[in-house]
Amino acid sequence: MPLNPNSDGIKELLDYAASNGIKCLTMEPLSRHTTFKVGGPCSLMLFPDTIAKLRKILSWQGLGEIRHMVLGNGSNVLFSDQGYNGAIISLAGSLNSVKESDGVIKAEAGALLSRVARLALERGLTGMEPLSGIPGSIGGACYMNAGAYGGEMKDIVTSVTVLNRNGELKAIPREELMFGHRTSRFIGSGDIIAECTIKLSKAKKSDIQSAMEDFSNRRRLKQPLEYPSAGSVFKRPKDDFAGRLIEQCGLKGVSIGGAMVSQKHAGFIINKSGATSQDIKDLIDKIRTTVYNETGVLLECEVQIID
Ligand SMILES: Cc1cc2nc3c(=O)[nH]c(=O)nc-3n(C[C@H](O)[C@H](O)[C@H](O)COP(=O)(O)OP(=O)(O)OC[C@H]3O[C@@H](n4cnc5c(N)ncnc54)[C@H](O)[C@@H]3O)c2cc1C
Repeated sequence: MPLNPNSDGIKELLDYAASNGIKCLTMEPLSRHTTFKVGGPCSLMLFPDTIAKLRKILSWQGLGEIRHMVLGNGSNVLFSDQGYNGAIISLAGSLNSVKESDGVIKAEAGALLSRVARLALERGLTGMEPLSGIPGSIGGACYMNAGAYGGEMKDIVTSVTVLNRNGELKAIPREELMFGHRTSRFIGSGDIIAECTIKLSKAKKSDIQSAMEDFSNRRRLKQPLEYPSAGSVFKRPKDDFAGRLIEQCGLKGVSIGGAMVSQKHAGFIINKSGATSQDIKDLIDKIRTTVYNETGVLLECEVQIID
């Protein structure tokens, strides 16, 4: 169960953050901050709207004693129904300034990919098109090298500015980011991405716009965007597709409680109606066991399960 917001540590962090002008919410339902629309209450959520405020939080002495994590747009996470016992630093919608100069975009971590893509289009810059429909933040997208339709973050990022556990800022060049298929040096590192620098090249606005429209139409056609989900639940197995294997095992349309394997795209689990986090986890287990027993492939989760 989440810590009582009046408990030691949480109460002190709340007072400290509020006195530094940082918006805070206690016992906030995580279902409001995730695209699966599930998850119980979080003891304390913090919404820093500048990098200076984010640094303030990270340099607070007691932070090491409290369980904490950073959240982007919540489009690749599954929190438990019991909620999160600790503090979540939420960046999407708060730390979201985006600037462009000479084809170089500097985007704060909470800026949504769609917003960065819009600015790129306005300035006649190409490179963001395949990523424009991914419903994540720049920070979340760098964290796991998000990608679609042959484009990945690794193709456009030139450096990432991170804050370590002591609140110290450091710029890391692309060569050191260790980008791979849905992975980077950030996975499990504890570093927080504060800002990302992206280099794009000039192109005709009409070409950029039609490419974005084409990708967006393909998404609408193939993905169950009308339901809450976290996109593809599993990483792509070697030389195959998770969705194809799941479909081959007859799991399309199978449901547990309010969670269902999408009829439109078997790689997606959708929150069909009032699913709990446990329904989704049980369905993930069922899919992994069935696919393993029938094909020998052990699917690896792309969605981050946070208990
Ligand atoms: C309908 C739909 C379609 C999708 N399509 C795609 C797709 O085509 N390709 C694809 O790759 N993904 C896709 N996704 C998944 C998701 O949008 C991406 O993984 C996205 O990059 C996650 O970003 P986020 O901001 O939502 O991260 P969150 O879900 O908020 O966080 C994910 C992880 O990143 C960490 N994190 C977030 N921000 C930071 C930061 N600033 N510093 C350090 N760590 C951070 C979090 O702690 C967490 O561990 C889709 C999701 C949905 C719902």
